[in-house]
Amino acid sequence: LCVLGVESSCDETAVAVVRRGDDGAVEVLSSVIHSQVVKHAVYGGVVPEIAARSHVETIDDLARLALAEAAEKGVGVDAIDAVAATAGPGLIGGVMVGLSFAKGFALSRGLPLIGVNHLEGHALSVRLTHDVPFPFLLLLVSGGHCQLLHVRGVGDYERLGTTIDDAAGEAFDKIAKTLGLGYPGGPALEAEAAKGDAARFTLPRALLGRKDCDFSYSGLKTAAAKIAMEQVKTPQDRADLCASVQAAIARQLVERSARAMRAFKAEHGGDSPAFVVAGGVAANKTVRSELSALAQKEGFEFVAPPLAYCTDNAAMIALAGLERFALMRAAADYDGDKQVHDGLSALARPRWPLDERRALSAPIHK
Ligand code: ATP
Ligand code: MG
Ligand code: FE
Repeated sequence: LCVLGVESSCDETAVAVVRRGDDGAVEVLSSVIHSQVVKHAVYGGVVPEIAARSHVETIDDLARLALAEAAEKGVGVDAIDAVAATAGPGLIGGVMVGLSFAKGFALSRGLPLIGVNHLEGHALSVRLTHDVPFPFLLLLVSGGHCQLLHVRGVGDYERLGTTIDDAAGEAFDKIAKTLGLGYPGGPALEAEAAKGDAARFTLPRALLGRKDCDFSYSGLKTAAAKIAMEQVKTPQDRADLCASVQAAIARQLVERSARAMRAFKAEHGGDSPAFVVAGGVAANKTVRSELSALAQKEGFEFVAPPLAYCTDNAAMIALAGLERFALMRAAADYDGDKQVHDGLSALARPRWPLDERRALSAPIHK
């Protein structure tokens, strides 16, 4: 199966071609991304209207580029079996641009269309590069989400915990903004933190000891803003605060993940199940290394997609569409007539919880 994927839910326009062979091997034939970061940087965050307009301006060229790269590898446009596009959650204007483009492409080529949940893209992104079997434990840490998920199969997600206020990436971004580090804040804060002393400032440890797997980052944000105002006078102070904040964020991710690991082990036992970390914050080296150390301690195998597939991209959307399409086809006992895809009626959805699909499709376990 070969799928064209389209992503436009935030400030990255992306198109990719992904193929899965009969042997299950996944190949990313192309994955092109246009980041709008410079357009939004002056505003200190993503401006939805500017984002939607920029998606409109770039999507045609990106698609051409993605198709040309795939063609260079011997996979022409005729080899594409289906089109997948992010249908939500995200900034609705942007989502509509990518989804409409995908519908037009699908219509003109007579191809099936699959509306993909962006979070499912992040959840399955690891399978672009690693042969991770189901079930696995997933920590999804991105700009808008912070969740622990029990991934039982494609379309079969159980949420073990989520943030009760800000997402981890959002905390990175907002605190960086308070400290004048610009946008996007995560990478900038990480660079500052590398020069600082993480033990310098004491920050609150939210939800510590609570018997669930939820997260909370708004208290940390407030505390950091207060310290910034009262105690940060020199560049070194600022670096120390960055290091302390990064350590606090990592610590909560570790504490909550540890609880989820024990719950997962209690249900499945087994030796070395996979602990997958995905989403933009998984690009953070401190976060990565502390979670990897935790996984080792708890008997899990730590797996994270390469950095390029941690942040938004279309290869993960193509793969999620591909996996779902294959599943729907198998479930419907495909006879070529039955429509086993979302078709042109697929709706753009600003909100779309990942665990909603649970009842919809039979999980595959392989
Ligand atoms: P969502 O997927 O929830 O809709 P999103 O798509 O905007 O949100 P991603 O693209 O997965 O999120 O990730 C972006 C987030 O990751 C931003 O909040 C950014 O600050 C954060 N991030 C990226 N790199 C790093 C880093 N090195 N350290 C910390 N945070 C980072
Ligand atoms: Mg982004
Ligand atoms: Fe994302």
